Formats: sequence, C-alpha cells, structure tokens
Amino acid sequence: MDTIIKSEDEWRKDLTPEQYAILREKGTELPFTGKYVDNHDEGFYTCAACGQQLFSSEAKFDSGTGWPSFTDPMNLEHVELLADNSHGMRRTEVICKRCGSHLGHLFNDGPIDKGGNRYCINSCALNFEKSDT
Ligand code: FE
Repeated sequence: MDTIIKSEDEWRKDLTPEQYAILREKGTELPFTGKYVDNHDEGFYTCAACGQQLFSSEAKFDSGTGWPSFTDPMNLEHVELLADNSHGMRRTEVICKRCGSHLGHLFNDGPIDKGGNRYCINSCALNFEKSDT
C-alpha cells in the first residue's frame, strides 16, 4: 500500500476545519449530527483524507449511538488499531493506515452474531460512494 505523508499545513489546506479537527486532531463529532448516521444506501465508505476504501455498507448497522457503526472494515490491512488511554478511558483508536488520520474508535459491544465488533466512526472522517446497481 502506498502511504500518504503530508505536513499539518498541507492537511489544513486540504481538509475543512471540521474534518481537520477530527482526522488530524483526533476530535469526535457530536452524536446524531453526522451525515452518514442514517445512511442505508449500498456502497462503500472511503477515508475523507486520502480516499482509501474503508467500510462497506454491508458491515454497517444501527447501533443507536449516533455515529456510523460497522462490524468490520473492508480490509483489515487498511486500518490500524492503537491503544488510546486518553480522557480517562481505555479505548482502541481506529486510524487510516494509508494516511495516518484518526477515524474513530473500536468497541466490543457490537452485534454478537457478527463477531461483536463496533467500529464507531465519525461521519466527518468518511466519504460515501454509492454503488451503481
Ligand atoms: Fe486515509
């Protein structure tokens, strides 16, 4: 995989302020505000910073949390998981492996019949490409 390395100045230029705060400063959008929370269209979600394919609509489920939630990434190689002990919590951070941008967190309270993962991802960190069926 090609990796994308940019200076923070370049990222700031290429991203909206809202995207920059989440992708590069590890922010979190407010629940139920993101544009993909209730998106049920078929297609795939890409990294808003670098365009890499990350999640399929097939893995999306309604978690009730207010953030787009997925049971698994399209390809485990496309994400990096890191221990995150910030804000007094033990969480697992989900990062785009191609560009190093913050996407969200991984929790283990997802659907049990699908392995129990809940990738809790900021809408702002994603773009959606609808399948043309
Ligand atoms: Fe990326």
